[in-house]
Amino acid sequence: MRHVDKSKVEMPPSLCVPQSPEDDPCPNISKITQRKRVDVIEKEYFPKDKKYKDSYKKKDIKDTLERLYHSKCCYCERKVERWDVEHFRPTSKYPWLAYSWDNLLFSCPTCNQDYKKGQFEILGPKATFDLKNLSEINRLASTIAYQHELPSLIHPELENPEDHWKFTVNGKMGAVTQKGKDTIRICGLDRQFLREQRKEIIDEVEKIANAKKLTSSSQEEDEKVIRQLIRDFSEKAYNEKKEFLAFRQYVLKHLLSKILNRIFTNEE
Ligand SMILES: [Zn+2]
Repeated sequence: MRHVDKSKVEMPPSLCVPQSPEDDPCPNISKITQRKRVDVIEKEYFPKDKKYKDSYKKKDIKDTLERLYHSKCCYCERKVERWDVEHFRPTSKYPWLAYSWDNLLFSCPTCNQDYKKGQFEILGPKATFDLKNLSEINRLASTIAYQHELPSLIHPELENPEDHWKFTVNGKMGAVTQKGKDTIRICGLDRQFLREQRKEIIDEVEKIANAKKLTSSSQEEDEKVIRQLIRDFSEKAYNEKKEFLAFRQYVLKHLLSKILNRIFTNEE
């Protein structure tokens, strides 16, 4: 998981909320969603009926999330073709946030359906909905109003996830904070499949380094090759389209020089 800046994209028009009855700049597409939003608020639960789900899966919402997240899961950073519009605060516990832009994320079905499911643990008192906040519903949960809840799960758009964990050369993910530990557990971010995928990135750079070492004939040349390998790795680590950027950036910062020096100096 890494930080994603949602201010880079416009809010999808279908989520627009009229600010006042006489001054309504919202497009027609948003009226149906607004009706369902009000309906859900009145019911005080999120109905199972498909038509309620359809409104948070509208094309403009899906297209914008796909573009913002480069088709990568907000939790595990895997690129996926089939994905879920994920509710950071689940509809089962926060029905009024079912159509709120700051509550909608891009998630792979494994992280969402097999691990996180309806989990949402908080350390503080649970937020409740006040109808006077309806016009602010799209940014309600990311403002001060919900900070007192202290969720265990890191919100990739509101926090800097990189402060919460560390990795090993084997792709294993560990926590350096309690919140990091909870997030890894809730979303299964250290699951075997992800570990192996992350390890492949290290295997690849080691393979290239070993091949380059064979053709290098001097220490000076070795150093040149190492600098180039670091540059190449860095380029990928900051390429938004690549998977596992949190891991790549951690490796670049903490592990890569050690890996390359070990290969080029034959140190164990
Ligand atoms: Zn995922």
